Amino acid sequence: MRPIQMVDTKTQYHKIKPAVDQAVMEVMESTAFINGKAVQDFAAALSSYLGVKHTIPCANGTDALQIAMMALGLQPGDEVITPSFTYIATTEVIALLKLTPVFVEVDPKTFCVEPAAIEKAITPRTKAIVPVHLYGQAAPMERIMEIAKKNGLYVIEDTAQAIGCDYIFDNGSRKKTGTIGHIGATSFYPSKNLGAFGDGGAIFTNDDELATRMKMIANHGQSRQYYHDVVGCNSRLDSIQAAILGIKLKHLDEYARARQQAAAFYDQAFAGHPAITTPAPAAYSSHVYHQYTILLEGVDREGLKKYVAEKGIPAMIYYPVPGHRQKMFEQFNVASLDLPVTDWLTQRVISLPIHTELDEEQLAYITTHVLAYINQ
Ligand SMILES: *Cc1c(COP(=O)(O)O)cnc(C)c1O
Repeated sequence: MRPIQMVDTKTQYHKIKPAVDQAVMEVMESTAFINGKAVQDFAAALSSYLGVKHTIPCANGTDALQIAMMALGLQPGDEVITPSFTYIATTEVIALLKLTPVFVEVDPKTFCVEPAAIEKAITPRTKAIVPVHLYGQAAPMERIMEIAKKNGLYVIEDTAQAIGCDYIFDNGSRKKTGTIGHIGATSFYPSKNLGAFGDGGAIFTNDDELATRMKMIANHGQSRQYYHDVVGCNSRLDSIQAAILGIKLKHLDEYARARQQAAAFYDQAFAGHPAITTPAPAAYSSHVYHQYTILLEGVDREGLKKYVAEKGIPAMIYYPVPGHRQKMFEQFNVASLDLPVTDWLTQRVISLPIHTELDEEQLAYITTHVLAYINQ
């Protein structure tokens, strides 16, 4: 049996090595390392795949969120509503820009932000909502967009974990996550579903004006060479990464299917077990399984993690400390917030290996040992 990893980027690379290597060599020969043709081509291909008007490549997913928030002209002290149960990058940029993060509760079944909690958190200072499509499944965007419209708020989708995921509207129509809100932000960190061989990110919008502003902000606020109209930053996707991503984008749907198959294997192995709650697919979303995260009831989580590690099976806790309990946010007096679902989830979640290269032998080995510990 091949060794089991949380993510197996090496086997994945070897399957497409000739195409990736050739694309990289072409960039090296062209020496157009910054903003070369590979970057333009990848941005166009991604726009077409997602069905969005503008894709602005940038240096990483955290920058993508930051540039999105800068483009909306939010002022210090403006409130941004966001789940507490997310990766720190989502909420960190809010504080970095001197905005106020307002942490709200998530749905215990989908792990995504709860629309009723968003509504309750709105004040006259609220300017934006940042839903996170956590673990590869969409937040309930249709309700979120209704709330945003009613209250005149911007919506920035954090789709770092859900690139390629379909949101299904009540009328049956579909849109890709990241293209529904005013702006979408994603990451090409190597372990993400569309992963580069280094850092990368992108911002999406259908709004021409926002696109122009975000392009400027990502490039030192420059409107034409050496004319800088607004304070920006330097955030670029380099051409080598874009060339690799261009090849991998062609495989993204096939990668999602491989992840869905692995998830189906886990679902079946754990079905009906009283101590394990498997991920609950929402009717309004496909699931691209960035993570396969189960909830444990009455199981010593650390004990399980240690037991499977001894068998060569990695498992991770995403995330052990929610945003409102992070020291970095002490200034916002959020530690005393009452977010029982979030606290409950942080104590019970555990993510098992999921990626595009898991075979049945590995999956059977993982489920056997997980169940052996839980059933002992
Ligand atoms: C990975 C991730 C980010 C940040 O992306 P980087 O490219 O690592 O900066 C933001 N939000 C979420 C939910 C993520 O998973």
